[in-house]
Amino acid sequence: MKEDIKSMSLEELEIFIESIGEKKYRAKQVFSWLYKGIYNFNDMSDLSKELRNKLDQIAYIERLDILKIQESKKDRTRKYLFGLRDGSAIESVFMKYRHGNTVCISSQAGCRMGCDFCASAIGGLTKNLSPSEMVDQVIAIEKDTGEKVNNIVVMGTGEPFDNYDNLCKFIVLIHTQEGMNMSLRNITVSTCGLIPKIKEFGTDFPQVNLAISLHAPNDAIRSKLMPINRKYPMDELLRVCHEHTMVTGRRITFEYALIEGVNDSSENAKELADKLSNILCHVNIIPLNLVSERDYRGGGRRSAQIFCNILTQNGINATIRRELGSDIDAACGQLRLKQKN
Ligand code: SF4
Repeated sequence: MKEDIKSMSLEELEIFIESIGEKKYRAKQVFSWLYKGIYNFNDMSDLSKELRNKLDQIAYIERLDILKIQESKKDRTRKYLFGLRDGSAIESVFMKYRHGNTVCISSQAGCRMGCDFCASAIGGLTKNLSPSEMVDQVIAIEKDTGEKVNNIVVMGTGEPFDNYDNLCKFIVLIHTQEGMNMSLRNITVSTCGLIPKIKEFGTDFPQVNLAISLHAPNDAIRSKLMPINRKYPMDELLRVCHEHTMVTGRRITFEYALIEGVNDSSENAKELADKLSNILCHVNIIPLNLVSERDYRGGGRRSAQIFCNILTQNGINATIRRELGSDIDAACGQLRLKQKN
C-alpha cells in the first residue's frame, strides 16, 4: 500500500526520505511542494527524476475532489463539497472577513454526537478524516480561490476531539514553517464539550483558540439539544472551561445558536450571563439557519439583538455572528445531505 505522504510531519518525512536512501534535506523540498498545492511528484522540479519516480511508486499525494461549489452573491462566501477516496463527502467554507480570509474545515465525515439541531448528525459518523484530508481542504481552497487563507476554524462537520490524534497532527502540519506556517493563534477548534479532551488540548496546544458549542443556559435545555450534555453536564463543562482560561490565559468563545422558543428567551439570556460570569469568554450568538430536515427555526436578527443586549448589560462580552452565505446552504451538513438525497 502506498504511503500517505501529506499526512507526514516534516520529521516523519525526513525519516521516510532517509529510509529510501535519500539525503535528509530532500524532505524539506518535498514538504514545501505539498503546501504549494502540487499533486504530482513529477512537478517537484528540484528533485532528481529518479527520486520523483521512486516517490511515485511508494507514496501518494492526497487530493480531494471538488464535487460542488456554491458561492454567495451577497458576500462571496464559498461553500465546497469535497469527495473522498472512499466515496463519502465533506464540506468546507471559505469566508471573507475584514481581518482576512477564513476557512472552516470538517474533521469527520458525518458525526456521532447526535445534536438535535444539526444536519451533520443525520446519518451518524461515516469516517474520521486523516490529517491529509484536513490539510487538503485548506490547500484546495487556496488553489481554487487564488487567495491566501489567514485563519482556520475547525467547526465544520464532525466533532474534532472525537478524532483527536489526527486533529493534533493536522495542527502541527499547518503550523510547520516549511509548509503553511499558520500561526497557532489563527487556528480555532470547536467542540461540543468532550471534557477530557478539552483538558488534554489545553496542555497540548495552549495557543490555539477554543470554542465551545454551548447553545443552552442550563442542563434541561442542553441535554435535550445535545446528548453529550448527559455525559458531561454543564456545570462540569464550565468549570473545565474556567480552568482552561486560567492555564492558557486565553479567552474561550461560546457558540450559542438561537432557536425560536427553545433557548432564546430573556430568562435564558439572564441565566446564561449568570453562569458565564466568572469565565474569560466571548459569546458568539448565531441566528440559526433554518435546518429543513429538523423542526427548528432561528429567532431572527431582532431576537438575537435582544439576547445580545441582555448578555452585555450583565457584563458578558457578546456579539451576533455576521450571517455569511445566507443565500446558500450555509448550515453545516446541508450540502452533504443534498448530495446523498
Ligand atoms: S453540532 Fe457539531 S458535534 Fe453536534 S452533531 Fe453537529 S457536527 Fe456533531
